[in-house]
Amino acid sequence: MDSTATSPAIDETHAPGRTSWVAGASNHGDFPVQNLPLGIFSPPGGTPRPGTAIGDHILDLAMLADLLPPDVGPALAQTTLNSLFALPRAARLALRRRLSSLLSDDRHRGAVEPALRRADACELHLPAAIGDYSDFYVGIHHATNVGTLFRPDNPLLPNYKHVPIGYHGRASSVRPSGVPVVRPNGQRKAPDAAEPAFGPSQRIDYELELGVWIGPGNALGTPIPIASAADHIAGFCLLNDWSARDFQAWEYQPLGPFLAKNFQTTISPWVVTAEALAPFRRAQPARPAGDPRPLPYLWDEADQQAGALDLELEVSLLTGKMRAAGAPPHRLSCGPASNMYWTVAQIVAHHASGGCNLSPGDLLGTGTISAPDREGFGSLLEITRGGSDPVTLPNGEIRRFVEDGDEVLLSARARRDGHVAIGFGACRAMLLPALHFGAAGQI
Ligand code: CA
Repeated sequence: MDSTATSPAIDETHAPGRTSWVAGASNHGDFPVQNLPLGIFSPPGGTPRPGTAIGDHILDLAMLADLLPPDVGPALAQTTLNSLFALPRAARLALRRRLSSLLSDDRHRGAVEPALRRADACELHLPAAIGDYSDFYVGIHHATNVGTLFRPDNPLLPNYKHVPIGYHGRASSVRPSGVPVVRPNGQRKAPDAAEPAFGPSQRIDYELELGVWIGPGNALGTPIPIASAADHIAGFCLLNDWSARDFQAWEYQPLGPFLAKNFQTTISPWVVTAEALAPFRRAQPARPAGDPRPLPYLWDEADQQAGALDLELEVSLLTGKMRAAGAPPHRLSCGPASNMYWTVAQIVAHHASGGCNLSPGDLLGTGTISAPDREGFGSLLEITRGGSDPVTLPNGEIRRFVEDGDEVLLSARARRDGHVAIGFGACRAMLLPALHFGAAGQI
């Protein structure tokens, strides 16, 4: 078994002493030269193209094709990263090492600097054409908290510790950070209501998740063994799985979430590569005594030793009133990403285990990641106990769920002693009022 399959190596690109000649990059909170995330951007007046974030700038990769490894050239001439994700991990690694050298070695400055753009002048797009999006449920504290609200007598169903629970989501409504979300209309029925009603959701929530970008993937009918699952993970993003809790409660049985989850999903547009996260790998937390050992197709020793990530995840809220007053966003929660009952390699291996083909640019959500305590809960449903225990914001405003004009901001930071911390960039979106349906139920 190739143990490097699950553990991208630490190399010179991660060296803490490595700095970039790009002004402001070396102390940048998200994008120092040790990160080098990939994305799709448009410069002012230009068309979408691949880029790398470096400090407050974006490097236009298509302009540098002559300086980059020849096997990535065709992929860099595209308007999405799907072709780049399709390449073997070795090609992505060669690109990273070359970019690191170009951006850190002063001798390349003259040739590379003309391809730098100020990030604040550019538009960021979805990094890939997302063929399919699936969402999992690996945050065991979230699953327990939500299960307690929906089924007080039976929070975790008997399958939870045996099978990574997931469902097929909706790729068409995934949007990058900054695109507002319109409050959805839909059908709901309060427990004490005699009849269901149709109208704007009254319980809009966010879900703090990690997104996983699929690399080469597998042919239909050919599973991905867990020992090679890491070869098919191109990178990560933040993912806000916007949720209408009133629709969800009414519709979710027997087939699972549908309209409660498909009106929009917000992601951070930069792909933080699996290679960039190599220094922040950690052992998957041991399962509590008495929990079942995963079945062999989900078990890989190397994955258990290095399949979790040292990431700090945070959610903040900025209301319309706070924005008008110039107040900063208020932090609602903060917790580690290690509260996942299954590793990302396990969800990839499970997804493909029946022969379902995963394709380059497919997106998987981990499911909401909550810590065991309220300070680390990854949704308002948990923080406010279904709306019964509201949050009071510093300006006195009260929130049970997300209100029109509120902006939800997710952030992630990988940190470890002896290494330069890296971040994921912005994942934020504002909630806009619902479209108005008239009395006849027509817009
Ligand atoms: Ca979710």
